[in-house]
Amino acid sequence: MHKLTKATLALNGAGRCYIAVKHCPAAKTISRGLVCTEHVSDPGKSEVYDVIISGGGMVGSAMACSLGMEPNLKGKKILLLEAGNKKVMDKVSDTYSTRVSSISPGSATLLSGVGAWDHITGMRCKPYQKMQVWDACSDALITFDKENLQDEMAYIVENDIIVAALTKQLDSLSDNVQVKYRSKVVKYTWPMSYQAADSIPWVQVTLDSGETLQAKLLIGADGPNSMVRREAGIPTVKWNYDQSAVVAVLHLSEPTENIVAWQRFLPTGPIAMLPLSDTESSLVWSTSHGHAEELLQLDEESFVDAINSAFWSNDNQSEFIERAGSLFRGALSVLMPSAGSTRQLPPSVAGIGPKSRVMFPLGMGHASEYIRHRVALIGDAAHRVHPLAGQGANLGFGDVACLTQVLSQAAFNGKDLGAMQHLLEYETERQRHNLPMMAAIDLMKRLYSTNAAPVVLLRTLGLQATNMLPPLKEQIIAFASK
Ligand SMILES: Cc1cc2nc3c(=O)[nH]c(=O)nc-3n(C[C@H](O)[C@H](O)[C@H](O)COP(=O)(O)OP(=O)(O)OC[C@H]3O[C@@H](n4cnc5c(N)ncnc54)[C@H](O)[C@@H]3O)c2cc1C
Repeated sequence: MHKLTKATLALNGAGRCYIAVKHCPAAKTISRGLVCTEHVSDPGKSEVYDVIISGGGMVGSAMACSLGMEPNLKGKKILLLEAGNKKVMDKVSDTYSTRVSSISPGSATLLSGVGAWDHITGMRCKPYQKMQVWDACSDALITFDKENLQDEMAYIVENDIIVAALTKQLDSLSDNVQVKYRSKVVKYTWPMSYQAADSIPWVQVTLDSGETLQAKLLIGADGPNSMVRREAGIPTVKWNYDQSAVVAVLHLSEPTENIVAWQRFLPTGPIAMLPLSDTESSLVWSTSHGHAEELLQLDEESFVDAINSAFWSNDNQSEFIERAGSLFRGALSVLMPSAGSTRQLPPSVAGIGPKSRVMFPLGMGHASEYIRHRVALIGDAAHRVHPLAGQGANLGFGDVACLTQVLSQAAFNGKDLGAMQHLLEYETERQRHNLPMMAAIDLMKRLYSTNAAPVVLLRTLGLQATNMLPPLKEQIIAFASK
């Protein structure tokens, strides 16, 4: 079993040189600043960009908008490359898409700053104000809400809508950012950190069309299987979880205000119901691969029964834990009579959207380094997490905000955008935020993947105590809202 510890990361860091040499025979000297080099016969033929972003998913598209909006980067040549088609949305579909993300207030601020949030709210976006998380093996629960219920805790937005909004914004930024769709990168050639007479000083990017381009800075936003990360020889700590996520659009039994996100931890994995509208919610059910396969094969009625039972059944509870939990709760409420929160019941499900059931294998991954000379990784290319905390894309948007700020400052000071000096600032700041978040998510996944009585007792007491401590809950919300 792997653990996300500093020791593991350090070990992987030490393995960096070996991996880079193995995968890059042309390597001369291997270190953070020096990757590998190849001699290019006629570099004069390919166009040179200040920044090339490889990958136009949610995070890469946001990065392109963010750089395109930055006054200090005006006049810089910026290019976004995306292997897939351009995602335009003239009219929002009547049916909801299965792929949705819980977008934190911090990410909403970023998307607003890059001019995409108005497009998103103009299409479709559901704010929610409360979250209830509870344990299937005991009565323990925790609720998160903003003191003032006018405030949004987060927003559920379809991934396609986020990308379409960013695409629309990129159209209006065409003077500052060039975009090439259906342009898959098939090769990267790395420069040396010092200029040799017969080598190009920039990263060379080769597209599947055969076209070659050069970049003073390459930003890898090409997802969890990042080719940029792999080809740059950046070591990655990663493992597959023993779970897949089944996602679906749910029709509720009756209309409700639907402003609460629900998550129940079953011994097989967490099941979450995220609000989409008064009558619909989105399901993210993480469970064993075998069970996920079975859920996909069930007829609609049995699938709906399985969801309702997963949210309502008390089959996993034991009398001993029940009694211990209730004694502890009683003691806490004597000490803190006004703290805590009352249990709310989730809405029941009556049906699912047509063809909306899909499953995704889950895993965790972290690049030991986010940067190399002339290279920076963002989004899932740098870090991949379990969806139980709804943080993957939010961490990526945090990378975008930080890298934009660092590059803007470098441009203002007339510095080389691809230099290690300021890229290191980006890496340090983001790893300081991302690593604790990733470790917490991984710990939660492990802590709740068992129904062993001592662990259940421990987490029951921990959850109940946290629920009675509003300042701690506020800190958790603040950390997850960034
Ligand atoms: C079930 C589930 C639920 C989730 N829920 C949430 C949630 O509630 N909140 C949240 O914040 N996150 C959530 N996430 C995580 C979130 O979906 C990811 O973190 C996010 O999609 C990562 O975006 P990205 O742009 O970094 O990568 P990707 O979405 O993987 O995009 C990468 C892009 O790069 C392009 N590309 C790849 N290779 C190349 C190449 N060689 N050349 C050119 N282009 C290339 C691809 O075509 C793609 O468009 C969830 C994930 C799962 C699986």
